[in-house]
Amino acid sequence: MICPNCKLKLKKIIFRNTEIDYCPKCLGIWFEEDELRRAKDDKDQELNWLDIDLWQDQAQLAVAITEKQCPFCSQPLYAVDYGQSGVRVEVCNNCKGVWLERGEFKKIIDYLQEKKEKEVLDNYTANLLAEAKEVFTGPEPFRSELRDFLAVSKLLKYKLLAQYPQILDIIISLPK
Ligand SMILES: [Zn+2]
Ligand SMILES: [Zn+2]
Repeated sequence: MICPNCKLKLKKIIFRNTEIDYCPKCLGIWFEEDELRRAKDDKDQELNWLDIDLWQDQAQLAVAITEKQCPFCSQPLYAVDYGQSGVRVEVCNNCKGVWLERGEFKKIIDYLQEKKEKEVLDNYTANLLAEAKEVFTGPEPFRSELRDFLAVSKLLKYKLLAQYPQILDIIISLPK
């Protein structure tokens, strides 16, 4: 798979049975749909009910086609913005994968902090950190952001996927 920004080959990391592809240059991350659907352990379910106000309100979703191509199937990626959050993710309407630029991690964490959701996520991810350090083989800048990385990847799994039908509705209704 090829980075939508740099056109370099994406590398893989595996964490908790979840395979994630990332670009070694721009450190963008690609989540495939199967990976997003994988939700088996109890800890994951704890996060499932968290009422996080991100991607929840269809009226706040803004979707637009981009020049970037899906790393997996080369279809155009669609940018999904949410209200005043400043958070943007890019999705493929064909394979349902999600591309996340490096800077978006911080924006999502900042947004949660503002909404007072951060503490819950910190408690959740703290338990995973020791284990993660042993198995994580990504580049150094990544490792230092592991806590945020875990929080955001979990959020993506549950919150974004839950709203996917709405996002797809908007994509379908976009002018061609
Ligand atoms: Zn890249
Ligand atoms: Zn795709």
